[in-house]
Amino acid sequence: MRQSRAILVTHGLSKQFQGFRAVSEVDLSVAEGTVHALVGPNGAGKTTLFNLLTGFLKPSGGRITFAGRDVTGQPPERIARLGVARSFQVTSLFPQMTAREHVELALQSATGLGRRFWRSDKLIRRFSARAAELLDEVGLAALTERPAGSLPYGQKRALELAIALALDPKLLLLDEPTAGMGLEDVDRTTALITRIREGRTVVMVEHNMNVVGSLADTVTVLQRGEVLAEGPYDQVKADPQVIEAYLGA
Ligand code: ADP
Repeated sequence: MRQSRAILVTHGLSKQFQGFRAVSEVDLSVAEGTVHALVGPNGAGKTTLFNLLTGFLKPSGGRITFAGRDVTGQPPERIARLGVARSFQVTSLFPQMTAREHVELALQSATGLGRRFWRSDKLIRRFSARAAELLDEVGLAALTERPAGSLPYGQKRALELAIALALDPKLLLLDEPTAGMGLEDVDRTTALITRIREGRTVVMVEHNMNVVGSLADTVTVLQRGEVLAEGPYDQVKADPQVIEAYLGA
């Protein structure tokens, strides 16, 4: 793999809840253009770490640098504006709105322009052309006019990806992109992430090790809030400490 610069770096990142260290002194370095997976047993601190990276939680200690800027303690809107988009584990769609409307709305809000500008014909055409491209990219070209609420689960998750991509993020954070999916949807989602990762940087929390193995360039294993191991999937998978952690020993 080509050496690239780190787009996201944490130093000694920690989060305590009433004295309990959910994330403890985590040093993370995510290289630009790579897929970086965060794995670990339940309670390892993956969600807390994600919430720290996106500003949903404020760290108790340590620093976070994104694209060369210190973003420690910044609110989620600011981190999003700098180019970090997140897809959620639980769907957050409006059931009555169509797939196209969701993506157009995301494109409109990404411009930061007020409603007055949205009425410009030129902009509306641009948004609808881009929305069509993004929906095509996530495999929903035939379903653009369907209300989101009527889409099957796997396609709802694909729509959420299109919404996250509408922000044209420098960094895409995926929270368990295959959670709750059957085999077919898992395969489809893996293929989809393989497509959308081109030219992008992805950090994902993922439980399915086949998915991690086929997508991730680097894997960071967390246990009890600390980094237990880090490296390419094959190396991490063979690490006796990791095997022990997963067997719950
Ligand atoms: P994971 O996502 O790896 O399963 P979490 O980040 O959800 O792990 O949780 C890590 C630890 O922090 C767990 O022991 C959990 O109970 C604890 N924790 C998470 N959020 C809170 C909170 N808001 N208050 C107290 N403890 C929490």
